Amino acid sequence: MTLKDFFIGLSQNQLLNGMAKKYGLKLGAQSVVAGTNIKEMIESVKELNNHGISATIDNLGEFVTDKQDAIDAKNQILDVIEAIHDNNVNAHISLKATQLGLDIDYDFCFNNIKEIVSKANAYNIFINFDQEDYSHLAPTFQLLDELHKDYDNIGTVIQSYFYESRNNIERYKDYRLRIVKGAYKEPEELAFQGKQDIDENFINLIEYHLLHGKFTSIATHDHRIIDHVKQFVKENDIPADKFEFQMLYGFRRDLQLQLAKEGYHFCTYVPFGNDWFGYFMRRLAERPQNLNLMVKQVFNKKTNTVIGVGAAAFILGRLSKSRK
Ligand SMILES: Cc1cc2nc3c(=O)[nH]c(=O)nc-3n(C[C@H](O)[C@H](O)[C@H](O)COP(=O)(O)OP(=O)(O)OC[C@H]3O[C@@H](n4cnc5c(N)ncnc54)[C@H](O)[C@@H]3O)c2cc1C
Repeated sequence: MTLKDFFIGLSQNQLLNGMAKKYGLKLGAQSVVAGTNIKEMIESVKELNNHGISATIDNLGEFVTDKQDAIDAKNQILDVIEAIHDNNVNAHISLKATQLGLDIDYDFCFNNIKEIVSKANAYNIFINFDQEDYSHLAPTFQLLDELHKDYDNIGTVIQSYFYESRNNIERYKDYRLRIVKGAYKEPEELAFQGKQDIDENFINLIEYHLLHGKFTSIATHDHRIIDHVKQFVKENDIPADKFEFQMLYGFRRDLQLQLAKEGYHFCTYVPFGNDWFGYFMRRLAERPQNLNLMVKQVFNKKTNTVIGVGAAAFILGRLSKSRK
């Protein structure tokens, strides 16, 4: 089992997720999560807007199994929409269908998301349906298809590691799409495993949507991909208002500011809230160097120690299982 597998395993561990929620932002997560409440998040968005950067706001949470938790998440997202409107900030919403009850009941989830999309539509706010692991891919597209009959302020994500993404990008070319590499652990029957294959597909999908699609969000911290896109849009006369770059809050801040300064549309993904553990573990899984966000913070306080020891115990458990 690789380090990446460890952290993806941790991201889905219910016990650790539950513990982390109680303790607030720990383990270094405070540098990549914009606070635990709407007020703190809006301050971060205002600061980004001051630099000419827009925001896509993620009220953290996923894989919800309790109806009341899904309803609470829906209400919180409705409050975020109200806050975007009241504060007149340049921002939209990113949501995850599993946070709104997809694992509980499809219709329940549909109605929750419909309420969100409808309110956002009244304020002319865009809603992005983030993509999660493969088991939720088809139902998330289905939610999008059904809601698109009544609303056009919605779009989704195409994950470059899936073989089927080429078909999906053609099928959803009339949507605003975010294109990413893909953050979950998927088997080789479904997804490219090697960095070179994923990067190649990533570039092909970006180029296709830039040429044929509605609006493209290129979401990556990879300067090689960004440099390639800059060259491609220049050579193909793609207008600046047909695409944007996106990165996650707290990552490569200098590059975020530089791209905005160069005149590219730039949007930062701003996660906030107490349910930060799964999100943070996926960031650690993506890039071993991201561990330095965490290292100094882990064993210096009681609450960090509880979560840190829990995480370590889980890692050791997985290790011993994989050796058997
Ligand atoms: C805005 C946004 C939204 C996303 N939404 C989704 C989603 O809905 N579903 C999903 O599955 N995934 C999503 N992802 C995650 C995505 O799929 C990738 O897992 C993640 O972005 C890591 O891949 P990368 O392209 O950033 O580059 P990586 O493959 O992580 O890195 C490539 C290279 O870039 C450089 N680099 C990367 N990070 C840094 C850094 N911090 N500092 C310096 N150099 C660096 C290094 O040279 C590295 O080798 C999202 C990512 C972003 C940015």
